[in-house]
Amino acid sequence: MLAEAREIIADALSCEPIEVIFTGSGTEADNLAVRGLLQNAVDREETLRIVTTPIEHPAVKETVSSLATRMPHVQVDYLPVTSSGHIEDLELLDLPATVAAVMWANNETGAIQPITKVAEKCQETETPLHVDAVQVVGHLPVDFSALGATTMAASAHKFGGPRGVGILLAKRSPVPSPVITGGGQQRGIRPGTPDAAGAMATAVALREAVTEMDGERARLESLTARLRDGLKESVDKLVVHTSEPNLPGHLFVSFPGAEADSLIMLFDSLGIEVAAGSACSSGVNRASHVLLAMGVEEKVARGAIRFTLGRTTSQEDVDFLLAHAADVVERARLAGMA
Ligand code: PLP
Repeated sequence: MLAEAREIIADALSCEPIEVIFTGSGTEADNLAVRGLLQNAVDREETLRIVTTPIEHPAVKETVSSLATRMPHVQVDYLPVTSSGHIEDLELLDLPATVAAVMWANNETGAIQPITKVAEKCQETETPLHVDAVQVVGHLPVDFSALGATTMAASAHKFGGPRGVGILLAKRSPVPSPVITGGGQQRGIRPGTPDAAGAMATAVALREAVTEMDGERARLESLTARLRDGLKESVDKLVVHTSEPNLPGHLFVSFPGAEADSLIMLFDSLGIEVAAGSACSSGVNRASHVLLAMGVEEKVARGAIRFTLGRTTSQEDVDFLLAHAADVVERARLAGMA
C-alpha cells in the first residue's frame, strides 16, 4: 500500500517514488528538512549560513530561530519582502549558503513567491533548497524534478487528505541527515513504521485534487473576487493585504479600528469560520509577523482577518458572509481595540 501511495504521489508531483517520505505533519517535514540539511554542514565543520524569509510559517520560522539560538555560529539572512508580500530581491542568494528555506506560497496572504527563480539561484551556488509547499501542493501545478529543489514539504489536510499526514520530498542527494534515529525506514530520513492507511488516503486525495485543480482554481478565483469586491462595497476603510500573484482561495484583509479577536467571535456566532493572521499566543492578540514584515502598521495588522475559501465553499456562503459583514465590523469597531 505504501509503495502504491508513493507512486500516486510521485505521479502527481513529478518526482520519483523513492523521493516520497511520509511524516506526521507538514511541520515535521519542514523540521526534518531544515534541521537535516543544516546538520550535513555541521558534520563537515563548515560555516553555517541559512537564507530564509521573514514570512515563513512557524514550522520553518521557529525551526530556524531555534537553530540560531542553540548554535551561535549560525548566521541567518532574511530575503526582503515587498509591501505586496512577495520576495523579489534575491541578492542574498548570490553567495552559497548552507541551506535556503523559502516558502512557495504564504499561508496568510496567499502571495505566491518566485520559487523557480529562487531554485535557479540556489542551483548556481549549489545551495541546498528546502521549499515549504504546504499551501501549494494540490492547488497549483508542482513539478518537483523540474524545479530542482532539494526538499519540499506538503501536508495532507491542506488538499482534502487526513489530518496528521505530511509529505517530505527529498532528492537522492544531498540527503538531509537524520533528525530522529531508528530502524532506517524511509531512507533513514524518517525512521519508524509509517501510517500506511494515512499514506494511501493522502495519495488518493492528492490525485483527486490535482485532477480537479484547474476547474477548482477558476471557481475559487471568481468566488474570492466576489468576496473582495463585496467587502470593499459594504465596509469602509477596508485594507486588502492579498496581492497578485496569489493563491485562488486566500483573502487577507484588515478592518482598522476592530480587533481580530472580536471579528472572529462575531463571525463565529454566525457559523462563519475565519482566522486571524497569527494564532493567539498566551491569550495576547499579536499582530501577524507576515504583515509587519510587509510594513503594515501594527494597529492595522491587529485587525487582520483571513478568509480561506476551499472546495466546500459555495457562492451562497460568500453571499451570506457579505450580508452580515458590515454589521459584524461595526459591532467589532464599537468594541474597540484592547
Ligand atoms: N507550512 C505552511 C505554509 C502551512 O500553512 C502549514 C499549516 O498551516 C504548515 C507548514 C504546517 O503544516 P501542518 O499543519 O501539517 O503541521
